Amino acid sequence: MNSEQLFNQYKEQSLQGRYITLESIEPLLKNFDTNNQVRIIGKSVLDNPIYAYQIGYGKTKILLWSQMHGNESTTTKALFDFLNVLNGDSKLANQLLATFTFCCIPMLNPDGAKLYTRENANKVDLNRDSQNLSQPESKALRETFESFKPDYCFNLHDQRTIFGVGNTGKPATLSFLAPAYNEAREINESRLKAINLIAEINAVLQQYIPNQIGRFDDSFNIDCIGDTFQSLGVPTVLIEAGHFANDYLREETRKYVFIAFISAFRILSENDIVVNKFDNYLSIPQNKVVFYDFIYKNIKINYDSIEIITNFAAQYKEELIEGKLCFNAYIVKIGELDNYFGHFEYNANEARYKDEYDNVPKLGQTADFYLDNNVKFVNGSMKA
Ligand SMILES: [Zn+2]
Repeated sequence: MNSEQLFNQYKEQSLQGRYITLESIEPLLKNFDTNNQVRIIGKSVLDNPIYAYQIGYGKTKILLWSQMHGNESTTTKALFDFLNVLNGDSKLANQLLATFTFCCIPMLNPDGAKLYTRENANKVDLNRDSQNLSQPESKALRETFESFKPDYCFNLHDQRTIFGVGNTGKPATLSFLAPAYNEAREINESRLKAINLIAEINAVLQQYIPNQIGRFDDSFNIDCIGDTFQSLGVPTVLIEAGHFANDYLREETRKYVFIAFISAFRILSENDIVVNKFDNYLSIPQNKVVFYDFIYKNIKINYDSIEIITNFAAQYKEELIEGKLCFNAYIVKIGELDNYFGHFEYNANEARYKDEYDNVPKLGQTADFYLDNNVKFVNGSMKA
């Protein structure tokens, strides 16, 4: 069975969309917990449980954690899809369980997940707390790291829609990083293991999403968890789930994260990577901030009573309103947009701008407007 078929068979149907909370995953963990494999490794600031699920009896130990940033849920969905595979009693599952012991923390920041924030309930970014360990969530992860003693770590995140693959005009649907372990960003044995693994995963994923894989910035910051674990000598792979065309709920991207997991563990179980793949890793283009969600070009406006032709861009804000996640588009940039791409682009051909209040777009206002009085845009998108 290829990875896509596996995904279709094992996808966890109860997890959908972007707003994934403790309530979403607790029933799933309960189902997995047939023999006390689910543990509470700590409590969040608001006293919510932080769960770890251990499965497998192989000698290579893999630690994965997701939703360290509460509003980054795509990798959590993919992690449960993968856990369904491991629980599926297939030949692949048995092979993986014999090779690896997985320790999975599917939601390190349950408070942030509920609030749909990056930070925890104390407004601390847990990915800047790996030295201070000032937060209970950071301590829980660190204690698990120290007691489990992983051979590999997977640090699982989402990235914003603004990231593209270099200047190619393609979105960074997935990005990877083997974090640096020192200021000089040198390569040691453990970082090379992460680099080689990423190079191999990239080779597989290029078949599914050609030119939509980026390499994340590797500037060193010891306060980041990946850099800390790498500096402690454990090969660490950062996976960032990003944008795929028209997939704001990240159900398509979820599949590619799943394929990244399957590929990573197939690669690690089947062959030792002995060849240095640093050049392959470096050939993955760097992530670059080049995208807006919406770009409107060649708009006519009156500026100080002179007619000018300009452009503007809008970007979704993900806002939790009465327990429901809304994507609301706001105008974020007006003027020169030459080096930017839009996930949606519209050439107005000098049509005249008008909105409810004025005949010029303003920063921070919602993207609701007319062009030449007859083309209507609501929340960024064109209405028929
Ligand atoms: Zn993140």
